[in-house]
Amino acid sequence: MRIGIISLIHESNTFICTPTTYDMFEENMFMGDALIEKYENAFNEITGFIAVLREQGHEIAPIFWAATGPSGTITHETCERLIETILGELAKAGSLDGLLVAPHGANSGADEYHDLDGVWLSRVREAVGDIPIVCTVDPHCNLSPAMVAACNATIGYRSNPHLDQLQIGREAATLLLRTLAGDVQPVQAAAFPPVQINIERQHTPSEPCRSLYKLADEILEEPGVLSNSILLGFPYTDAEEMGTSFVVVTDGDRKLAQAKADQLAAYLVEHRALFAGEFVEPKEAVEMAVREKGPVCLLDMGDNAGGGSAADSTILAALLRKHKTPSFVCLYDPESVRACIEAGPGATLNLRCGGKTDDLHGEPLEVTGTVRSLHDGYYTESEIRHGGRTEENMGDSAVFDCNDGLTLLLTSLRSIPVSLGMMTSCGLHPSEFQVVVAKGVIAPMAAYEPVCTKLIRVNTPGTTCADMRKFDYKHRRRPLYPLDELPAT
Ligand SMILES: [Zn+2]
Repeated sequence: MRIGIISLIHESNTFICTPTTYDMFEENMFMGDALIEKYENAFNEITGFIAVLREQGHEIAPIFWAATGPSGTITHETCERLIETILGELAKAGSLDGLLVAPHGANSGADEYHDLDGVWLSRVREAVGDIPIVCTVDPHCNLSPAMVAACNATIGYRSNPHLDQLQIGREAATLLLRTLAGDVQPVQAAAFPPVQINIERQHTPSEPCRSLYKLADEILEEPGVLSNSILLGFPYTDAEEMGTSFVVVTDGDRKLAQAKADQLAAYLVEHRALFAGEFVEPKEAVEMAVREKGPVCLLDMGDNAGGGSAADSTILAALLRKHKTPSFVCLYDPESVRACIEAGPGATLNLRCGGKTDDLHGEPLEVTGTVRSLHDGYYTESEIRHGGRTEENMGDSAVFDCNDGLTLLLTSLRSIPVSLGMMTSCGLHPSEFQVVVAKGVIAPMAAYEPVCTKLIRVNTPGTTCADMRKFDYKHRRRPLYPLDELPAT
């Protein structure tokens, strides 16, 4: 069999004013052998696709893969070019027996492209006709009816932080091959309850998610059910698709698929209050963190680099300085990195760090201190971490020790703290500090939980604020809990 692979990965935070453009995708766009080379040894869904297709002796057509880090709405022109490129590469690939597709699920563009994944998947379906298409998505997916209609089966990762991407890729490829062999005839149905699970409540091993996933696991054991997925949703995309959804794949029984998706949706609606989120304010969080036995990790939810935020919020750093306790914060600040490089290690400097991208994430910090060390910012990760990547690049970076106990890691590229490599590659470790700040919500947990005594999710303001009430949504579906109350049932 000849199986194509197509993937487009972006988490579109429509509350960020900087648009996402084609050149940002182009930096990370791979076709043909380059796609295989990039992912055959990583830990994501593409790795899983490649492994199963090879193990079972099928031919791989690596058609297209592109991604860019989370950022603002994808421009109209970029959406058109991306679709054109995907369709062009698909046409060049020749005849296919089946297709594996991996949209993120929260790709959102301007105007009619708000459901970009629904649009490109529909266009791909039109182009390939009736061959089986199996789709994987990130659970931060705002699923749409168009996405469901375009594919025979959709499977979301089951863990947040995302540690099972490779496994889900293997599952999707296996399902596609079973379909082609005539063993199963997958059909799917989805449910779109009027609820968005708060980003703060999306840690899958903890309650309230644990019980929801337990129900999904039980349903998975029922006869005829091939797969089911909980798509937690991405609340920073202002589009009608935004929200939590469920998709169930059965062997030829669409009614059963719909009933099982509806059962999961009904559970969420009934228990919605548990998923609304808990909010610890910054001052209270810092006071808790300095009292506990360290190191304590403060998760800066409002400046979640993995949700597209600026990664230069100074709000927690400013509060930590007042306590003069050994603490660590990473800030995106290329200008300060350059100043450190010019001065060199050991030099004493005054810097204005962070708080430069927008006015939502605090003022620049006025600091005096010493350049401890300089780094090229490259590191590798050998463990499975959120996102399944093995190579990271923070750009030129500097470690700067301020006079008041705060140590800053200044980077030239926005970096998502999914790996301790961010610190260890620069000679730092959480154990040196009373408090470490990680700019994320759930994604950093796999790396930081084993080395910190406590993790506190902090309700900081910003473009990824956990409290959805802080955003002015114009296009979301209504009603949507917790922004709207739902009628009593
Ligand atoms: Zn995700």
